[in-house]
Amino acid sequence: MSENIPHALILGGGFGGLSAANNIRKSLSSSQVKITVVDKKNWFMVGFAKLWIIKGTRTFENSTGLLSGLVKKEIDFLNEEILHIDLENKNIKTTTQNLSYDFLIIAMGAVLTPEKIPGLAENGMNLYDYKQSEQIHDKIKELKTGTIAISIMGMPYKCPPAPFEASLIIDSMLRENKTRDSVQIHFYSPAPITLPAAGPEISKKILDLISSENIIFHDSCKIKAVEPNKLIFQNGEAEFDLLLAIPPHVAPNVIYESGLATQGNFIPIDRDCKTPFENVYAIGDVTTLKVTETMVVPKAGVFAEGEGFAVAQNIISKIQSKEESSLFDGKGGCFIESGRDTASVIEIDMFSGPNPSTKLTESTSEHLDEKLQFEKDRLSNWL
Ligand SMILES: Cc1cc2nc3c(=O)[nH]c(=O)nc-3n(C[C@H](O)[C@H](O)[C@H](O)COP(=O)(O)OP(=O)(O)OC[C@H]3O[C@@H](n4cnc5c(N)ncnc54)[C@H](O)[C@@H]3O)c2cc1C
Repeated sequence: MSENIPHALILGGGFGGLSAANNIRKSLSSSQVKITVVDKKNWFMVGFAKLWIIKGTRTFENSTGLLSGLVKKEIDFLNEEILHIDLENKNIKTTTQNLSYDFLIIAMGAVLTPEKIPGLAENGMNLYDYKQSEQIHDKIKELKTGTIAISIMGMPYKCPPAPFEASLIIDSMLRENKTRDSVQIHFYSPAPITLPAAGPEISKKILDLISSENIIFHDSCKIKAVEPNKLIFQNGEAEFDLLLAIPPHVAPNVIYESGLATQGNFIPIDRDCKTPFENVYAIGDVTTLKVTETMVVPKAGVFAEGEGFAVAQNIISKIQSKEESSLFDGKGGCFIESGRDTASVIEIDMFSGPNPSTKLTESTSEHLDEKLQFEKDRLSNWL
């Protein structure tokens, strides 16, 4: 390849990175731009497939696409860990290489930190860790009597509706197992309402939905520690037999070392997804994008995908010497599976007015089909 072909380097092959890489390639051929995606994993999975592995209708193997599939699109894939990001010298150090770039997209997602909560790793399971999904399935099936606790242990966390969806899926598993009458499900959140990002009206609908299945929601429960069979909150305690936790999220360590975010926070961006460094963008869960003084764009695949699209358009414009003008549109939909072979969709427009506009659709089997199709489309279009 000629030396003067610009190089778009994408750190992370998740929702944001794959959206950006594919959207750039759709408009520009390999003679116009070289694209490289770097990821320490060699596969991609849509986040909600983890819930299907817990449900038992999926395995890890039949829920993933291989990132090596990018090569078909003339997108290079480097299966290595990113060890250091040096933006002053435009150098990215991976396990065996030093990579330079003309355009850099940081799409490295959020990291789950169970170790931040004393006693969690020893006494509870991580609902969001794909390595634990099968074991969680087995434990739910084995539990004949007692209490399952679902506990959100930090804000913000990925896909705000997902733990509620998980509670409904677990409810359906217990019904199938004929253990629902003897196993209680309690849900603990640090927030005052179920889905602050979707507003009070939709939060009430989600509360009604889970309450109708006898899932008991406890608001404003800020976790301090976990002991054997016991959650310790700032304002009380609760007992459990099986704990499914959503641990606090942070950015990957290399992001803090790069100076792009302050410790414990995410990379601050605006709708253009730019960082203070020229031609360096950040997208998805690794970022924080303010909508109002008190609200940020939720961490979700659809939003990482939308940001990836906007950044791709701007890089394409720059390479074509046109004016860059794309902003992340803030629109997206998140599915909520009811556990009764139906799903509803929360449709969000983050920047529609002074406050985001949100709508919750009816729960129908068609929406569940759409959810399956959403996954199929990403896997087949991107890889
Ligand atoms: C149970 C569950 C259900 C969900 N359901 C939905 C849903 O219905 N709809 C929705 O929109 N979203 C959903 N999500 C959220 C969605 O999965 C995330 O918001 C989305 O993946 C974020 O995309 P991203 O590109 O920012 O990060 P990711 O997809 O997490 O990608 C980041 C990538 O960077 C790589 N990486 C990180 N650090 C390094 C390093 N040092 N070296 C090399 N590679 C590195 C990681 O391996 C990873 O592949 C769900 C999540 C979960 C857990």
